[in-house]
Amino acid sequence: MEVLRGFKDILPQDIKKWQRLERIARQTLESFGYKEIRTPILEKTALFARGVGEATDIVEKEMYTFLDKGGESVTLRPEGTAGTVRAFIDNHLENYPFKKYYYIGPMFRYERPQKGRLRQFHQIGIEVFGIDNPAVDAEVVLVDKIMLDRLNISDLRIEINNIGCPECRPEYSRRLKEYFQSHRDSLCDDCKRRLQRNPLRILDCKNKTCSQIANDAPKITDFVCDSCKDHYNKVKDNLSALGIEFEENPRLVRGLDYYTKFVFEIITDRLGAQGTVSAGGRYDNLVEQLGGKPTSGIGFASGCERLISLMDEEEAQSIDYYIASLDEDIYAMDIARGLSLTGRGVYVEYEKRSLKSMLKKADKMNARFVVIVGENEKNKGVVVVRDMADSTQEEKQVNKFIEDEVARWR
Ligand code: ATP
Ligand code: MG
Repeated sequence: MEVLRGFKDILPQDIKKWQRLERIARQTLESFGYKEIRTPILEKTALFARGVGEATDIVEKEMYTFLDKGGESVTLRPEGTAGTVRAFIDNHLENYPFKKYYYIGPMFRYERPQKGRLRQFHQIGIEVFGIDNPAVDAEVVLVDKIMLDRLNISDLRIEINNIGCPECRPEYSRRLKEYFQSHRDSLCDDCKRRLQRNPLRILDCKNKTCSQIANDAPKITDFVCDSCKDHYNKVKDNLSALGIEFEENPRLVRGLDYYTKFVFEIITDRLGAQGTVSAGGRYDNLVEQLGGKPTSGIGFASGCERLISLMDEEEAQSIDYYIASLDEDIYAMDIARGLSLTGRGVYVEYEKRSLKSMLKKADKMNARFVVIVGENEKNKGVVVVRDMADSTQEEKQVNKFIEDEVARWR
């Protein structure tokens, strides 16, 4: 039986990187006062149709949607913002003093699998509610940047754009449609469809011809209203004041309809077409659109698989104490119970093999110490401890040994 296309096992060999990613992300986000939220992976389909937008690629063709046994249409979440907003409204979090949240978890999109593009992938994301102040736009970028720095991911650039609001975007959208209409025959099939429903998305098409045509398209910056312009300029000032370098990319649009005013991406050239590692922006109308009181919002989502592929390799897995149980398994387990108080890794070997082959295996596992226990040791109340670094062995009184080891790691 094979795993589904676009789905992947994350194996024990690779888990240290994932754990480091999650640890550093949590530490960074918590240190800025963001609180973790865990929302369900399955939601009503209407949440995404309304939240992400009917005319987006995600809703039009990428969702895992099915009827549950009660006949309700449900969808595996393709992104984290809609669910967080729903939870914010459902649980009256406007009354909870903390308005900055983060999540880490799997997302599902029925896409064509490629390097850096999966059907089940993971995101780390943040959302901030109820703060219009353009300072928070800069905070969101800053926090993202600090997280990436702490992950030791370099060679990144930050692109930003002003994407307007429901006041000014429709006019731009109309002008864009006119422009692309005159190049209709050269556009890819996806963009022909986007032309009717969502011409902004053509700006973001990865097809070469579409991208060339988009180069000369009208620019949104010439259409945005004063309020959007003012907000955006303040964000730029804030970023500059914080010493964060960025480039303006008037063609930067996001794949989700809910964004307003400020959007950004953090991009690497090291992953080819799948180079966006983080993407985000402001979504001032989404809470209201999903039935809440008018509340502004802003956030980002980072793709974990892409971050992982940019992170330094971890050292191989290892263990501190490999307990070679010759024939006294319960005695061995008792010693493991004692050693576990060190907080270090303790591995009891139950497979009955020769001592020589156990030592070989301990070496493969990068064990630091091998604790040899058999009937003889049990009767004498001792263990034989082998230091794998210099292959020396010593017999030690068992309780004293455990006490010393616990003290060593304290
Ligand atoms: P793209 O243009 O690459 O399709 P998107 O606009 O669909 O990206 P978002 O929905 O904003 O991306 O998701 C934020 C981040 O999540 C992306 O920048 C990327 O790092 C990651 N991501 C999105 N879709 C996938 C996927 N199918 N597989 C792996 N990572 C993904
Ligand atoms: Mg996409």
